Amino acid sequence: MPVERTRDKDKMEAKELIDRLKEIVDPEFVLSSEMDLALYSYDASLEKAVPDVVVLPASTEEVARIMTLAHEEKVPILGRGSGTNLTGGTIPVAGGIVVHFSRMNHILEIDTANRTATVEPGVITLDLQTEVMKQGFIYQPDPASQKVSTLGGNVGENSGGPHCLKYGVTSNHILGLEIVLNDGTVIMTGGKSRENPGYDLAGLLVGSEGTLGLVTKMILKLERAPEAVKTMLAIYETIEDGANTVSAIIAEGIVPATLEMMDNTVMRAVEETIKVGYPLDAAAVLIIELDGMPEGMDEKAAKVMEICKRNNVREVKLAKNEAERNILWAGRKGAFGAVGQVRPSYLCCDGTVPRTKLPEVLSQVIEIGRKYHLPIGNVFHAGDGNLHPLIMFDERDENELQRVHKASTEILKLCADAGGTISGEHGVGLEKLRETCFIFNESDLDLERSIRKAFDPDEILNPGKMIPDEPCRQALGL
Ligand SMILES: Cc1cc2nc3c(=O)[nH]c(=O)nc-3n(C[C@H](O)[C@H](O)[C@H](O)COP(=O)(O)OP(=O)(O)OC[C@H]3O[C@@H](n4cnc5c(N)ncnc54)[C@H](O)[C@@H]3O)c2cc1C
Repeated sequence: MPVERTRDKDKMEAKELIDRLKEIVDPEFVLSSEMDLALYSYDASLEKAVPDVVVLPASTEEVARIMTLAHEEKVPILGRGSGTNLTGGTIPVAGGIVVHFSRMNHILEIDTANRTATVEPGVITLDLQTEVMKQGFIYQPDPASQKVSTLGGNVGENSGGPHCLKYGVTSNHILGLEIVLNDGTVIMTGGKSRENPGYDLAGLLVGSEGTLGLVTKMILKLERAPEAVKTMLAIYETIEDGANTVSAIIAEGIVPATLEMMDNTVMRAVEETIKVGYPLDAAAVLIIELDGMPEGMDEKAAKVMEICKRNNVREVKLAKNEAERNILWAGRKGAFGAVGQVRPSYLCCDGTVPRTKLPEVLSQVIEIGRKYHLPIGNVFHAGDGNLHPLIMFDERDENELQRVHKASTEILKLCADAGGTISGEHGVGLEKLRETCFIFNESDLDLERSIRKAFDPDEILNPGKMIPDEPCRQALGL
C-alpha cells in the first residue's frame, strides 16, 4: 500500500533545488523533465510516486555535496541502483531527490592477494562476477537479477541468490563500506581485514534499504572459484516429494551450492519463452548444484541421487557440460520474466520458513491462490526455505489488485506463523510495512526507529520505507 506523504510548503521549491543541484553535478546529469521523472517513478514493485529531480553523480564528493544540500533544506533523498527491487524501495513517496548511481560504476581494484574487490555502488553484479572469474575468483552473492542489479542495490536489500544456501547472503561478503551520512559527512567503516573493533556499522548498513546513508564505495570479499561443479535436474510427480528431498539432503550433512525449486506453473511459463526442455508433465523440479574440489565429487553426486530416489524422484538428469548447465540456469534465472507471459503483472511474496515446513506451507499457498481465484507459481530458493510465490494478475483490474494484496498478506502471515519471516532477501520497502507486525512487536520497532533517528534525525533518507510510522497491527486491523 502506498504511503501518503506530501512535502512541507517551506521546503525548497523544486526549481531552486534543480538549479542548486546543477551547481554540484554536470547539468546534463540533473534530470527533471516530465518524461525523466516518470521513468524514475516506478521500480519492480507495484508502487509508484514521482520525484522532484533525479541526479546522477560521478563521485563521492558530489554525493556528499548533494546530501549536504538535502540536509540543509530538509529535502527527502534516496539512492537508486537499477530499480529492480521488488518491494518499492526506490519509490520516492515523499518526492525529493533520487540519486541514481549508474555513473559510479567502476571496479576500482581486484586484490587477489587479499581476496577483495573494491567497487563503486553502480557496478552491475554480473560485471564484477565476470571480471573476478577471469582471475579464478568468485564473488558469491548471485541474485537471479544479477545481469541488471547493482552491487549498491544488493547492499541496500541484503540480497540473496541461488548460491547463498552454501555461501550466505550479501552481508556475509561485505568487508567495508564508504558511507555518506545524512549531513554530507563521509565515513569509512571496516576495511580489508576480516575483523574490526567497535560496532559493526557495515553490518548495520547492509539491508538498511537506503535509510541510514548512501553507500559510495564497497570492499567485497572474494573466494577461489570452485574447481568442480555438478548440476542436476531432479524431476518430481509431487511438490511434496521435491520439498522433502531438500530437507533430506541437508539432514545427510550435504550442503549443495544451490537447491532451487520450480513448480509446473512456472515451468510452463519458462518453456513458452526460453525453451530449456523442462518436463511439462511433472509437478516440480529441483536444480541441485554441488561445487568444491574434484576429489569426492562423484561420490557426493551419487549420494544426492540416492536421496532423490528415496524421495520418489521420477528422474535425475546430470548436466553433461557447461552448455547444458547454462541452459538449466537460464530457465531458472529467466523465470520471473517468463511469468509475465501468463498475466501482465505479478507480485512476488518473499517469505521464508524452516525448510522442513516447505511441504505443508506450499500446499497452503496453493489453497490461498484458490481462495482468491489467483494463479500462483512457485520458483524459489528451496534450500533456504525461501519461498517466492508469484501471484499473477492484471494490475488494471482494481478488484483483482485488492485480492492480490490480501493473498500476499495471508501468505506472509503463514510464513511467520510457521516459524519463518516475511522477507528472505527482498526487504520490506513499502510493500511489507504493515506485515512487519507478524515478526516484530512495538518494542522491536521502537528500537529500529531509534537507530534510524540516530543516523537521520530529520528522516530525509528514503522516508516511508522499512519501518512503519504507526503501530502496524492497527493498520492491518489486528
Ligand atoms: C527478475 C528478478 C529477479 C530477482 N531475483 C532476486 C534474487 O534472486 N535474490 C534477491 O535477493 N533479489 C532478487 N531480486 C530483487 C532485486 O533485484 C534485488 O533486491 C537487487 O539487489 C536490487 O538491486 P538494484 O540495483 O536494482 O537496487 P534498487 O532497486 O535500485 O535499490 C534497492 C534498495 O537499495 C537502496 N540503494 C540502492 N543503491 C544504494 C546506495 N548506493 N546506497 C544506499 N542505498 C542504496 C535503494 O534506495 C533501495 O532501497 C530480483 C528482482 C527481479 C526483478
